[in-house]
Amino acid sequence: MTALAGRVALVTGGSRGIGAAIARRLAADGADVAITYARSADRAEQVVRDVRAAGRRGLALRADAADPAAVTGAVERTVAELGGLDILVNNAGIAPYGPLEEIRLEQIDRTLAVHARAALVAAQAAAPHLGDGGRIIGIGSNLAERLPHPGWTLYAMSKSALVGLTKGLARDLGPRGVTVNLVQPGSTDTEMNPADSPEADAERALTALGRYARAEEIAATVAHLAGPGGAYITGTTITVDGGFAA
Ligand code: NDP
Repeated sequence: MTALAGRVALVTGGSRGIGAAIARRLAADGADVAITYARSADRAEQVVRDVRAAGRRGLALRADAADPAAVTGAVERTVAELGGLDILVNNAGIAPYGPLEEIRLEQIDRTLAVHARAALVAAQAAAPHLGDGGRIIGIGSNLAERLPHPGWTLYAMSKSALVGLTKGLARDLGPRGVTVNLVQPGSTDTEMNPADSPEADAERALTALGRYARAEEIAATVAHLAGPGGAYITGTTITVDGGFAA
């Protein structure tokens, strides 16, 4: 498939899990792909090798999403080294979890910085480079819609911010032909949420399909939004949760 031939994508947090699956899928669909990571340089280089094996150009950039200058720098380096930017995927994420009384201020600030501030800063940096047909796609969480367990208040708050960000950006950038959407995964088998963890059966039981998603299934929705099929979808949220919210 070459639905994205000639396009350049930047996927934040592309060294592992859902972001790595998105990077591989966008490359398979024809895009050149840059990824960011925080710590996993080796894993990021492996994803770049996979992108190159698909016949595309790949680039790994260390850029902590909590550092706005690093986020802006990753956008600028992508443009400089891959010749432009057409698709921004704000995926980098963390999973703070625990009792309400134990949430620390620094944890609140870091979580909001990685999930919400970084997504806005990246969009600001990307906007001047995105032309007609440009795409911004966020990765939120189904826990912004339905939260059946205690302990996820901070995570859900930070992911809920992306709903408003998506609507605002869609209005800001729509007149230029750029679409902006949010994909909200449900339980997806990654190192953040392994399908063989002690909690996994309880998560599976809350879905209609009775199973976790594979990261490739989240990437498929991102690829649809990034491609021609996404042309008239903007300002909205697509939940890919196996019926968790049904
Ligand atoms: P993983 O923990 O498997 O991977 C996280 C990725 O984000 C890694 O590439 C990691 O880089 C990167 N990352 C983490 N912190 C930073 C940072 N400060 N700066 C830059 N990159 C960073 O998580 P998933 O793949 O499961 O999650 C991806 C996204 O999907 C997240 O936003 C998450 O909240 C969301 N999500 C996941 C669900 C799930 O069940 N798995 C469900 C709903 C939403 P490095 O390798 O360097 O650490």
